[in-house]
Amino acid sequence: MKLQIANLTKTYSNGVKALDNLNLEIGTGMFGLLGPNGAGKSSLMRTIATIQKPDSGSISFDEINVLEDQNALRKVLGYLPQEFGVYPNMSAERLLDYFAQLKGISSSNDRKAIVKQVLEVTNLWEVRKKSVSGYSGGMKQRFGIAQLLLNNPKLIIVDEPTAGLDPAERHRFLNVLREIGTNHTVIFSTHIVDDVKELCNDLAILNGGKILYRGTPTEATKEL
Ligand code: ADP
Ligand code: ADP
Repeated sequence: MKLQIANLTKTYSNGVKALDNLNLEIGTGMFGLLGPNGAGKSSLMRTIATIQKPDSGSISFDEINVLEDQNALRKVLGYLPQEFGVYPNMSAERLLDYFAQLKGISSSNDRKAIVKQVLEVTNLWEVRKKSVSGYSGGMKQRFGIAQLLLNNPKLIIVDEPTAGLDPAERHRFLNVLREIGTNHTVIFSTHIVDDVKELCNDLAILNGGKILYRGTPTEATKEL
């Protein structure tokens, strides 16, 4: 499993250079992208998820040329944006069952099993009967993870999942990431140093659209 990013550049129409000839290679495991507000984290993640196009550069994921073949990428990618989703007034359990149906799982027993599994992994099983529209921010973030796990993605990208969460909910969320990181490749961005220290075996520090540091959290501690 390898994600390779080469010479990626993005300048917005207002003249802000969000990605500046960025190079990065990411392998299997839990990867943290650390950087202050405005560093370019969301721009990078949206570009990998093919939500937006860069001006130049290339991205490959294993055999997939990401910028040329968005459909192939989206089959193996789970992306959770920073903004909370807008959800209908439906219980988490029913909504996930509905998404599983859209995915083409026709057996209701199969759907039940997978929905139970993703609700347990995201620690939402006890609140499965509650409406997602009434969930707190942290619960919505975890619901977003549950939803993308239905597709069994090879690569999961999560943009600043802990921003704005209170300490208890932040810990709940990090525990969920730790759990899914045992059998998925997860890339997540954060401006909180402790998030990457607690979770990652590999990290990069981004600022001004460039990678300033690449290595392990232990080595990085000197710099932070
Ligand atoms: P981060 O996620 O690290 O906070 P962003 O990628 O959101 O960084 O932003 C990087 C820079 O690009 C910032 O200066 C931001 O203001 C600017 N920017 C982000 N999105 C847009 C946009 N759609 N249009 C113009 N400027 C943008
Ligand atoms: P916020 O993210 O808005 O700061 P929280 O998500 O931490 O708020 O908490 C909102 C309420 O939901 C709290 O009472 C919390 O105990 C409860 N809650 C959150 N997640 C769960 C869960 N998995 N099971 C049961 N209750 C939960």
